[in-house]
Amino acid sequence: MPEARAAYLCGMTALSITADTMSGIEKVPLERYVAPAKPSLVGMSRAVLAQALADIGVPQAQHKMRVQQLWHWIYVRGAQSFDEMTNVSKELRARLDAHYTLARPEVAAEQISVDGTRKWLLRLPGEQATGRPHEVECVYIPDDGRGTLCVSSQVGCTLNCSFCHTGTQRLVRNLTAGEIVGQILVARDRLNDWADRSTKNETQTRQITNIVMMGMGEPLYNFDAVRDALLVVADGDGVGISKRRITLSTSGVVPNIARAGAEIGVMLAVSLHAVRDDLRNQLVPLNRKYPIAELLAACRDYPGLSNARRITFEYVMLRGVNDSLAEAKALVKLLKGIPAKINLIPFNPWPGSAYECSDWEQIEKFSEIIFNAGYASPVRTPRGRDILAACGQLKSASEKLTARERMALRAMAMTE
Ligand code: SF4
Repeated sequence: MPEARAAYLCGMTALSITADTMSGIEKVPLERYVAPAKPSLVGMSRAVLAQALADIGVPQAQHKMRVQQLWHWIYVRGAQSFDEMTNVSKELRARLDAHYTLARPEVAAEQISVDGTRKWLLRLPGEQATGRPHEVECVYIPDDGRGTLCVSSQVGCTLNCSFCHTGTQRLVRNLTAGEIVGQILVARDRLNDWADRSTKNETQTRQITNIVMMGMGEPLYNFDAVRDALLVVADGDGVGISKRRITLSTSGVVPNIARAGAEIGVMLAVSLHAVRDDLRNQLVPLNRKYPIAELLAACRDYPGLSNARRITFEYVMLRGVNDSLAEAKALVKLLKGIPAKINLIPFNPWPGSAYECSDWEQIEKFSEIIFNAGYASPVRTPRGRDILAACGQLKSASEKLTARERMALRAMAMTE
């Protein structure tokens, strides 16, 4: 039994070991989130903010106006202290400060690539105040006229995809909505990307224009927090990144795909990686629970699909495993009728991985079949190579940049 798996089994109660966890499809969290004595207002919905105000004695008649003020200071101005809120009375600022904070995740390390790509290692509290904090990474990729932020949803991951380094790690815990939104606020802090009185809060004037939930974790296994966070991020009076510019990537948690469509309404990306169930069962063991046909049926039903709103299918290129030209043709056939884009992702090996990256020539031939079938797949220069290469230097204090994050970066950098 690998060490990581032994460790998480040790952390489970007998009752929490379900049939699925026993068969190796899903893990359960080792820890739960314990809210600090002074909670952060970051990530709270308007309704929860109103309740937070009620809890400190703000009269109900003022809630709407006060929530709007807080919303503006937190999500448009990026306030990090209540003192900055000059249109809020001194007395209320003091009361807010006595009970709440505006804390976001702490930046433990920052790496900046020569091409402008940035990676932040963020520290999150553990269950025990005295225990070791947890770390997740968040990556910013600037491009012509846009900037994409790759955000994490869990410490570790519920799933165990065999090509992914994160899949070998324990699932420590789900991130809260505040910790998910907090990643975006931290990135804006570091990029100096907040509006001031002279700038408009419009996406075209911001450095972060797009969000992808493609960092560590399976977002649809942390559904409520991801939904609440993305609805905050998409709110036009705050962070203001429209749902069309937010992409949620899933390995195929079929029941929650429909929920994501109905309750969040952002763009969808699906980690497909194989065209046959027997192979996908190995690469993405969740396929044993939700096979390809069910997954694609859920994709076909995803609301609002059109040529302008396509599902992105991610396909990692593994030499001699899933990269034959017959598989490229089968992929095209499988996706017929679904408005789709296909991201071919060169595999980036990690220590102990059983796979190798397909030859470049094979990736090009595979890509050509897809292109000839009408799916655009331009190849671009990979971004942030220097900091990706250097990411192992963070290892002593944290996990490395996950294979999944590397893939997300490359997918975004190399294909539309
Ligand atoms: S590919 Fe995604 S869902 Fe699969 S183990 Fe890695 S992080 Fe988790």
